[in-house]
Amino acid sequence: MQRLYTFYHEAGHARYKYRHPCESSECTSTPDDYPIMWLSVLPGNTPLEEFIRDKENFFKRNWDGIRYFNCSEN
Ligand SMILES: [Zn+2]
Repeated sequence: MQRLYTFYHEAGHARYKYRHPCESSECTSTPDDYPIMWLSVLPGNTPLEEFIRDKENFFKRNWDGIRYFNCSEN
């Protein structure tokens, strides 16, 4: 399951140009839930249902703190 999480995370960078919601220096608080792009490593106590929900939001491009790399200029 850890590998699966990391797979989705990395695919999010590559396929959807997702950025991390915050870079490490910007993170001032921990979210209530963990969108897949929040961390590259799954928190150890994440229940499977949580992961599935996050995965669905991930594909719907609908989750808190979503950011993209800006590839549209030039
Ligand atoms: Zn990442």
